[in-house]
Order: sequence, then structure tokens, then C-alpha cells
Amino acid sequence: MDFTLSKEHEMARSLFREFAEKEVKPLAIEVDETEEFPKETVAKMAKAGFMGIPIPKEYGGQGCDVLTYAICVEELAKVCGTTAVIVSAHTSLCCDPILTYGTEEQKQKYLPDLASGKKIGAFGLTEPGAGTDAQGQQTKAVLEGDEWVLNGSKIFITNGKEADVYVIFAITGMIEKRGRMTKEISAFIVEKGTPGFTFGTKEKKMGIRGSSTYELIFTDCRIPKENMLGQQGKGFGIAMHTLDGGRIGIAAQALGIGEGALDRTIAYVQERKQFGRAIGAFQNTQFQLADMATKAQAAQYMVYKAACTKDQYTKDHKTSYNVEAAMAKLYAAEMAMEVTTKAVQLHGGYGYTREYEVERMMRDAKITEIYEGTSEVQRMVISANLLK
Ligand SMILES: Cc1cc2nc3c(=O)[nH]c(=O)nc-3n(C[C@H](O)[C@H](O)[C@H](O)COP(=O)(O)OP(=O)(O)OC[C@H]3O[C@@H](n4cnc5c(N)ncnc54)[C@H](O)[C@@H]3O)c2cc1C
Repeated sequence: MDFTLSKEHEMARSLFREFAEKEVKPLAIEVDETEEFPKETVAKMAKAGFMGIPIPKEYGGQGCDVLTYAICVEELAKVCGTTAVIVSAHTSLCCDPILTYGTEEQKQKYLPDLASGKKIGAFGLTEPGAGTDAQGQQTKAVLEGDEWVLNGSKIFITNGKEADVYVIFAITGMIEKRGRMTKEISAFIVEKGTPGFTFGTKEKKMGIRGSSTYELIFTDCRIPKENMLGQQGKGFGIAMHTLDGGRIGIAAQALGIGEGALDRTIAYVQERKQFGRAIGAFQNTQFQLADMATKAQAAQYMVYKAACTKDQYTKDHKTSYNVEAAMAKLYAAEMAMEVTTKAVQLHGGYGYTREYEVERMMRDAKITEIYEGTSEVQRMVISANLLK
């Protein structure tokens, strides 16, 4: 066991940190206020190779490990939760399933443009009636000749409208399972611009406001037969396996948000004076900081462990990482919520104003407990493993 990062990982971290400080931090307030997708920053991230970190070089990516990718998301989230989730949804939820389940043809067709950031990716599973119960979905795909015809809608899709490539789940029939008829779910790759594929409502959100969250609508949307991802009927497994990886990205986002809020709070309590002393001189402040730092450190180890376990899976295609990912996401998200809440408290009235960014971090932290499986879902995954 070795708790020190390799020289390569440290170098990658410095690169991500420098980019985050120089390119992302100065725009974070504006992105939150205007609720606009930071297109220019994404173009710069694409140029710097951030949109294809764990994609093998043969498909145009950086060929780095999952830990490097997690460190990138962490560093971005320290200054801007929005920018972090754009990278995370693109990489974990769109590139990864194409890499894992795509045919060689699909990988050649889609991955180079996604890895270079020329195209952005998204993942559409959730529906109005199917959130936690993802099997409750209604979107259908019917094979007509050489085309699948999609009808239905998806909600809350991160990178919606901005993305060019969407991994979409739909019902392709009914099958008998243990004497009961159940839905057969399959996965598809759908490109923006396909006739019959339009965008509905843009969500007005509490946090991660620059992240574009849209409804997707499919009305007799015809896609080529060869755009099915993986085997017919294996879609639910593909979605669940994809989310296991995605949870590492969200855990890294939560980790970064917590760490960013802690950094700002440490600086603030040393500056701000009351009763003739810095508020950092009060033992309550010190103990709060100690708890915040301890939890952030614990979260970091869990996130890195989950990333390394997924790296092992990439090598042997055997190692399971779903429990590590669930634990990392659960803990890091709850840490982010607790740490940002304490950060606002330690900033006093100023923490409640938009001038000090801890209020934004507190708003951004909340979503990490909800998307890519709520904290309750993570507890279900963890406890199911304990009781199996
Ligand atoms: C900003 C944002 C971005 C998102 N991005 C994407 C995306 O890119 N792609 C995508 O497909 N989806 C996305 N989602 C959807 C997200 O994953 C779901 O919102 C989430 O899984 C919860 O589903 P729900 O909102 O329908 O809540 P519900 O499933 O209705 O849950 C409501 C509450 O009930 C609890 N609950 C439900 N069932 C159980 C149970 N069996 N036991 C205990 N508690 C339970 C939940 O934990 C939660 O607390 C996004 C959502 C948001 C808000």
C-alpha cells in the first residue's frame, strides 16, 4: 500500500490546478449568475486534452488512468462545480459506455471526436416517471427495417442541447423473466440533429447553474440499426455499470467542492477579526476546521481508492468497483454538503452573500447527493453487498 501519488499524477494535478486557477476560477461567478454554459472554457479544456483523459490513445484520448481523470474533476470542482460536471458527464456517462460496450466501428466513429472535445457527450436515462426506479421508463424503440424508431422523452439531462452525442435508453420489447413479463431495455447512440430529436425545457436549478440540464424529446426519431449500443436487452446493465463509473466522477466533484470551500474558509478566518482577534483564534473555529479537513481527507482516500479499483477493472475486466464507487459518492457528497454548510457559517453574514463564493459551493454541493443515484441508492448498493 502506498498513499503517495506518483510523480505523473502530481504533475497532472499541477496542470489541472493551474488551468482551474487561470481559466475557470475567474469566470465561476459569472457562469453561476448568467446560468450560461461555459462554451469557451470547454473549448480550452478540449485543447488541453481534458475531454478524453481516460480514453486510450488509439481512440484519440490521453490514455491516462481513472485516477488522473478523478484528479482533474476534483481540481476543477475546487473552483467551479459546473465545469467539473461537464467533464464528468461527458467522460463517464458518454465516452465510457461507448468505449466499454461499443463495436470497433462505433468506437472509431464516435470516440476520437469525443476525446478531442470536438463533440460533447451526454447520457439520457431518467424520465419524469422513472428516476430512482430507472426500470419504470416509457421511451420506446421499435425496429422498422434498418432503423430504430424512438418515441418518448428524458428529463434532467446534463450537457443537454450542448452535447452532440447521446447515450439513450429505451424499451425494445417485453420479455419473460421468472414467469413475469418485464421490459426489455436497450441502449442507443443518438446524434444531435437527427430528425425527431428535439429539446424541451431547460431546468432552472439551485446550483451548478452553468451546466445545461435539458429535457430530450423523441418523436418518431429514426436512427440507424447499427446505433444500438451493446446487445439488445442489455441496456439496463449498461446503464447501471456506466453509473458505477460515473459515481466516481461525481464523488470527485463533491470532493473538490468540499476542498474548495475549506480552502476559502481557512483563508477567511485568518483575515476576519472580531473581539480584537482573528476568528481563527477561537477554538470553535479551529475545531470546525479540523472536522472539515478530516472529512475531506477521508473522502479523498475513498475517491482515489474507487478510481484505482476501476483502473484495475480496466486491466482485468473482472474487478468490481460498484461498492467502492457507491461508498465514495455517498461519503464525498455528504462531506461536501457538511463542509460547505460549515464554510458559510464560518463566513458569517458575508458567507450568505454572493460575493463570497461559499454560498455557491453550498448550492453546488447539494446536487452531488442526488444525481447519478441519490444517497439512498448508494446505501442500497452498499447494504445489498453486505447482506448478499
Ligand atoms: C441537475 C441534474 C442533472 C441530472 N443529470 C442527469 C443525466 O445527465 N442523465 C440522467 O439520466 N439523469 C440525470 N439526472 C437525474 C437524476 O439522476 C435523478 O434526479 C435522480 O436519480 C433521482 O431521481 P428522481 O429525481 O426521479 O427522484 P425520485 O426517484 O422520485 O426520488 C425522490 C426521493 O425518494 C427517494 N427514493 C426513491 N426510491 C426509493 C427507495 N426505493 N428507497 C428509499 N428511497 C427512495 C430518493 O432517494 C429521493 O430522496 C439529473 C438530475 C438533476 C437534478
